[in-house]
Amino acid sequence: MRICILGSGSSGNATLVVAGETRVLIDCGLSGKETMRRIQEVGEDPHKINAIVITHEHGDHASGLHVVAKTVNAPVFISSATLNACKLGDKVKNIKRGDEISSAQDFAVGAIKFHPFTIPHDAADPFAYTLEYQGIKAGMAVDLGYYHGLAAERFRDCDALVLESNYETDMLRACTYYPWSLKQRIMSRQGHTSNDELARFLRDDFDGKAQHVVLAHLSQNSNHPEVARLAAIQALEARSPLFSADAARRVKIANYAAPTDWIDL
Ligand SMILES: [Zn+2]
Ligand SMILES: [Zn+2]
Repeated sequence: MRICILGSGSSGNATLVVAGETRVLIDCGLSGKETMRRIQEVGEDPHKINAIVITHEHGDHASGLHVVAKTVNAPVFISSATLNACKLGDKVKNIKRGDEISSAQDFAVGAIKFHPFTIPHDAADPFAYTLEYQGIKAGMAVDLGYYHGLAAERFRDCDALVLESNYETDMLRACTYYPWSLKQRIMSRQGHTSNDELARFLRDDFDGKAQHVVLAHLSQNSNHPEVARLAAIQALEARSPLFSADAARRVKIANYAAPTDWIDL
């Protein structure tokens, strides 16, 4: 299984997963044109995508859905609650539906098994998930109020984790770009995850298996890649020497502006 985060942040999220002959695009928060461009940039053919999976209706995850779905001509796996909340109106006609999914039920796309689970986030039916292919497992949660017990349990035994590290609390408080109401939403337990909250997860709940820990959905206004990276590395280093030796090698950053390197599992 190979994973590439095509883009991650409040300006748009999309992830490409390839396992055997199965190619899945997860979330369509970039424009149709940009999604096509980035898929080609990482060496894949957009027209070979077998399915699109949508985690929730927020614009940074679903705004390109109707255009991308039509362009790549792939079925969309989305829950009815999420599709209704997308408010696509007539554009819904552009969408070829895949299986009806929900945040509470496992499903498969070709050779890839998805195990979604409900998360604290202010959307209709949002989910984080693990993916499995031939005994390889990856976990992803890019919009999350906080790392609750279920996330800790589901993310055990993963070979890679893609995890939200949205904001640095002091930077968010001081940020003049956002109104206070938005800051409250971001900081709430239904909002987004801080660098500190991810550090707590890595220190207390992470089982240590994943060799790739990708920090995702970093805010452009209230975070900095090096601040987020350092918080995650320090959290890993605070654990036993077993973890600290290669903490810096494990931690990677997903960027809003460009795809990550392929993560080969
Ligand atoms: Zn969201
Ligand atoms: Zn988001």
